[in-house]
Amino acid sequence: MYTVFAGGVGASRFLQGLVQVADPAAVTVISNTGDDVEMFGLHVSPDVDIVIYALAGVVNPETGWGLTGDTFAVAEALNRYGYERWFNLGDRDLATAIHRTRLLREGVPLHEVTGGIARAWGLASSILPMCNERVETRISGPGGELAFQDYMVRLRTEVDVEEIRFAGAREARPSPGVVETIGESAAVIIAPSNPFVSIGPILAVPGIRDALARTSATRVAISPVIAGQVVKGPAAKMMQSLGHEVSAAGVASIYRGLIDVMVIDEQDRELAPRIEALGMRCHVTDTMMTSPERKAALAASVLQAIGGG
Ligand code: GDP
Repeated sequence: MYTVFAGGVGASRFLQGLVQVADPAAVTVISNTGDDVEMFGLHVSPDVDIVIYALAGVVNPETGWGLTGDTFAVAEALNRYGYERWFNLGDRDLATAIHRTRLLREGVPLHEVTGGIARAWGLASSILPMCNERVETRISGPGGELAFQDYMVRLRTEVDVEEIRFAGAREARPSPGVVETIGESAAVIIAPSNPFVSIGPILAVPGIRDALARTSATRVAISPVIAGQVVKGPAAKMMQSLGHEVSAAGVASIYRGLIDVMVIDEQDRELAPRIEALGMRCHVTDTMMTSPERKAALAASVLQAIGGG
């Protein structure tokens, strides 16, 4: 069994590869819900939905989120009533949010709602939200504190990040199955996701870090930074403004003590000795996931690195 700590786009690309080389039913995803947001009164779980749509083969390949060929009639119709349009939600994507919101209002816990949505899309893998409680990633910059989607989507990350906190994390508990799957897996894989705002919230849920420390699983992280740059998103800017080296070695030092193996790109091969000096093995491979074949090759290489542990 494999457990994958996942954000959105980078994680879903890796997962698309993993289910090509491993039994999808043996894959459990622990999904970040720190960037969940309420839009039009609906509960939207962007990272959970990206992963579900990607594994179902329906994610929009151009954006990495949303559904292929989705339309935006509802969002356009809402314009008339003066709703803000900065957060794009397609019509069929809204259906997922309507369904999720209705069940949550009826008192169904988020992990059951999420499991039901994944099954409705025909997924054999389990998708678990990190917790059932509301945990909110909050970003502080020179202008004060922002909700995550305000920072990410409305302000397009054009803010110097000074601090990140996860409001509500202290009161949260890992959702049912999270601690068990970490304990029972052969490997726990930290996807190539943003270490601060995708993996950070998962690790902030009390009990998850401990489960990772106690498990006999091989713990592996894949660097989202290649040759000093991120493929997309604000991780590099965040690393810099929070005082980390923007490199795969910088990512390795963030995960120091939590992982056994760091997977880095061929282009960063020269960083391997420095990463190994942090007390972990370093596995070098092609980590650029630009095609189904490259996604599968990366996943196969990661499993090989785990086997070699
Ligand atoms: P988000 O929640 O949608 O921002 O998604 P994640 O946190 O899962 O992913 C964002 C990270 O994925 C970025 O830091 C990217 O550098 C990384 N990423 C995206 N595509 C690739 C890829 O092909 N290879 C690697 N190594 N990282 C990637």
